[in-house]
Amino acid sequence: MPRKLAAGNWKMHGDGAALAEIDALMAAHPSPGVGILVCPPATLIHRMATRIGGGPIAVGGQTCHPAAQGAHTGDISAAMLAEAGASHVIVGHSERRADHGETDAQVRAQAEAALAAGLSVIVCVGETEAERDADVTLEVVGGQLAGSVPDDARGATVTIAYEPVWAIGTGRVPTPAQIAEVHTAIRAHLADRFGLAGADMAILYGGSVKPGNAAEIFAVPNVDGALVGGASLKAADFSAIIAAL
Ligand code: PEP
Repeated sequence: MPRKLAAGNWKMHGDGAALAEIDALMAAHPSPGVGILVCPPATLIHRMATRIGGGPIAVGGQTCHPAAQGAHTGDISAAMLAEAGASHVIVGHSERRADHGETDAQVRAQAEAALAAGLSVIVCVGETEAERDADVTLEVVGGQLAGSVPDDARGATVTIAYEPVWAIGTGRVPTPAQIAEVHTAIRAHLADRFGLAGADMAILYGGSVKPGNAAEIFAVPNVDGALVGGASLKAADFSAIIAAL
């Protein structure tokens, strides 16, 4: 998949009828030249992947359990996602960290399990509003990277998503300078820890990306694409974001 990536996170939205959005997306981008990924609820992964067939859109999960199988009611393993047709999985989304108390160590274990199952991984990091106000954004993000990203991460299989928690679903977006500061720090962290492999890793921005602000965000240095929530649900909106990449 190309390094430039538009990834859609449908969260807990979407039913069978919503698969029509994927048809529209494929029709709008028959040979996109950038990576397109859609992460629907687990119930739709197999149907979506089947519908796409060999088409230009990859399908991903929104989380996975670190174990391959076992007594973990309600959870889903990386191998199960892969068997259903996923090629990617998001781990460490702030909603998982908040709703399910997922720690950096658990996120790292999920990422390791995903890599072992042959999935590519998007590891999410980002500060809360209180942390930004306290001027500890770079320390928080650095700590999440150190704790959540596996040691064998490589650009081909691991992508970082910087998602300020206060920007997710709020319509509030950091300034280009604020995004640049954090993305540059993430790039430096990755290069320092992984050398050339770190320089290769894509860094996505996420948090209220819309058709109207995508081009400005994509022009920021070290922004390789976006992780998009609400605006990925409608093909017309997601398509406009893809076109801006
Ligand atoms: C997200 O879910 O990761 C996200 C960035 O959501 P939204 O685009 O709706 O802010």
